[in-house]
Amino acid sequence: MTNLQALSRRRLLTAGAALSGLALAGCASSSSGPSIGRVVIVGGGFGGATAARYLRMWGGNVDVTLVERSASFVSCPMSNLVVGGYKQMADITRSYDGLKAMGVKFVQGDVVAIDAAGKKVRLASGSELTYDRLILSPGVDFMYDQVGGLQAAVDSGRVAHGWKAGAQTVALRKQLEAIPDGGVYAMSIPKVPYRCPPGPYERACMVASYFKTAKPRAKVLVFDANPEIQSKKALFERAFKQHYDGIIEYKANSEVKEVSGTTAKFEFEDVKADVLNVIPPQRAGDIARTAGLLNMNNRWVGVNWLTMESTAAPGVHVLGDATFSAPAMPKSGHMANQHAKVAAAAIINLLKGEAVNATPVVMNTCYSFVTAKDVVHVASVHQYDAVDKIFKTVPGSGGVSAGANQIEGRYALGWADNIWDDMLA
Ligand SMILES: Cc1cc2nc3c(=O)[nH]c(=O)nc-3n(C[C@H](O)[C@H](O)[C@H](O)COP(=O)(O)OP(=O)(O)OC[C@H]3O[C@@H](n4cnc5c(N)ncnc54)[C@H](O)[C@@H]3O)c2cc1C
Repeated sequence: MTNLQALSRRRLLTAGAALSGLALAGCASSSSGPSIGRVVIVGGGFGGATAARYLRMWGGNVDVTLVERSASFVSCPMSNLVVGGYKQMADITRSYDGLKAMGVKFVQGDVVAIDAAGKKVRLASGSELTYDRLILSPGVDFMYDQVGGLQAAVDSGRVAHGWKAGAQTVALRKQLEAIPDGGVYAMSIPKVPYRCPPGPYERACMVASYFKTAKPRAKVLVFDANPEIQSKKALFERAFKQHYDGIIEYKANSEVKEVSGTTAKFEFEDVKADVLNVIPPQRAGDIARTAGLLNMNNRWVGVNWLTMESTAAPGVHVLGDATFSAPAMPKSGHMANQHAKVAAAAIINLLKGEAVNATPVVMNTCYSFVTAKDVVHVASVHQYDAVDKIFKTVPGSGGVSAGANQIEGRYALGWADNIWDDMLA
């Protein structure tokens, strides 16, 4: 045997060993060996679906049950493109089949009660699921009581918020299609914190982009309860001026107090719109409140950032929008996906009686379409600080685009495809 042949054979064996190691690991993750524990996950959105997938991939043999009220996943990221008419609902909808194929038990249902002491959850159907560790990633629910008449307006279909993707997205798009040329679309943005800080400004661009071609005399009025644009400020200001001058009118410090018909009432004026899109103030999803977990401003769930375990209920890990965010940590799908990986790794360690990673790092990238093709991004990296026991942004990391561009338009679509795969396989 020549030296070359010996080297090739050795490489082949090494590669083979690596492959069989991978195959074994893959096998173990979906095998029928003894389970190391039962994890129930409530909510199959960005946080919950990612946690389910990573518990199966990393867990050896964790028994994972995912309870989600919808039959399929519908993405909020990219839903503004549906609102603008540039994508269809099918483009932002994915099935849970990939997770099922990985051995995740998928239960379509609504969790209505959590018994943290008894380690079980109850579904609306009356059935119960027991667990060793519970993950909640219920997203947000709305504080309708903060805006008079809003609940009734949304319930009647007069006003769509479009802040949970699905029927609301379709309703808002239909209203925009029906608006006359010369009509008025008015959006109201709640005070921070709300999910997806740049989302409303992206939506303003998408609606204005649609009007520019389809209804050039129609107007977009943006009423922001905050003192200024909350994310990528200079980039959105530039986009408003460069592409939508005379279409988008932006007003800061304008908090909607009441909704009547399609009239929004502010402190000093009433605004009548053809389409009124009120984004309601938000808090952690209802199930977190029912379970008594809202220990931060009676609105969000405080967590131990090393494990994502609720500081209100041991054994209950909370992810994503429902958490009380660390400083400069956005409520985003990308961040919920990162929370899920921290939690999945920690839960596997805890089930095995091992120490959890003491130095987790998470990151976020958020793309926004300012035209049908031009996109801007903001990125950040967050490192756990052992002294203050919280994630802090890494100095010098992240940043924003120099300007809107079409290359980032392709990256944005790639980001969506990748993260949907990362959650749902
Ligand atoms: C218009 C818009 C654009 C956005 N764009 C971006 C973007 O470009 N990039 C980005 O990173 N983020 C974006 N976001 C933010 C992103 O959608 C959220 O931050 C993300 O969905 C949070 O993930 P989550 O797991 O906390 O909640 P969700 O993804 O909302 O998942 C919660 C799930 O829990 C289920 N659920 C809730 N309660 C129960 C219960 N009791 N029983 C059973 N199931 C339950 C719900 O049905 C839902 O499927 C956008 C949001 C909006 C509204």
